Amino acid sequence: MNPAKTHIPENSICVLGIPFDQNSSFQKGPCLAPSRIRESYYSDSSNLWTEKGINLESMDHLYDFGNLEFNPGTDFCNHIAGTVSTILEKGGRLICLGGDHSVTFPIISAYAKKYDSLNILHLDAHPDLYDCLDGNIYSHACPFARIMEKKLAKRLVQAGIRTLTGHQREQAKKFNVEINEMKDGLNWLSELEFDGPVYLSIDIDCLDPAFAPGASHHEPGGMTTRDVINIIQLLKGNIVGADIVEYNPNRDLMSMTSMVAAKLLKEIIARIHNDSFINPVDSTR
Ligand code: MN
Ligand code: MN
Repeated sequence: MNPAKTHIPENSICVLGIPFDQNSSFQKGPCLAPSRIRESYYSDSSNLWTEKGINLESMDHLYDFGNLEFNPGTDFCNHIAGTVSTILEKGGRLICLGGDHSVTFPIISAYAKKYDSLNILHLDAHPDLYDCLDGNIYSHACPFARIMEKKLAKRLVQAGIRTLTGHQREQAKKFNVEINEMKDGLNWLSELEFDGPVYLSIDIDCLDPAFAPGASHHEPGGMTTRDVINIIQLLKGNIVGADIVEYNPNRDLMSMTSMVAAKLLKEIIARIHNDSFINPVDSTR
């Protein structure tokens, strides 16, 4: 990845770290994630070729914007949304490394300004649809309630879900969220198709804790690493942005989860490269 802190090139694929975990309800730690994921991305234990044969080392339109800085008193929503907007205005395709899942609301706020019919595919153990949790409407348990009440997405599809409460089922109904619960298997994925741009939000706890122990909330019964890679590679739609959130290095074992996040990052970059530059579709819809 080319470093790009000040200059924002046109039509690039951009990676941005958002080391922010102040809206985590249970444990802090995801603020440490972006730097750890980069370490694993560049680890000598692997290489920078993707499974479908793209060498990320020689991708000249791939830029790393480093990590956003947060000072005390910074309005996290404005700070994140403003930075994301600046990159999107230059035609960038952005992949954000969280951070807890609260960062997705401001990211999507920026995306919705550019894409008026945005689809979201959200992979998570949790639907994150609480109206409010512990008195915090910006909790990492609430971003998709904020996104849907502001009508920032035309369609929200969730997968990997295995913690639904009565309240969240009501919220899902109210906002017409399409929830594919983990208990029903993943066969439906082959039928899933999106019309128009797709934003992919990956909470690392969509994976089973056996595959990704570095998560604040260990929820058994989740996806395999292969399941998530298959979704990234086979999804029918045009991916215009993504995030990988909720990786908590404090809970990780021998960087296992960091390597998973880095692998997902590589495959997402390859997918976005394909959708934007190899087999481009009209991404302005
Ligand atoms: Mn989760
Ligand atoms: Mn989440």
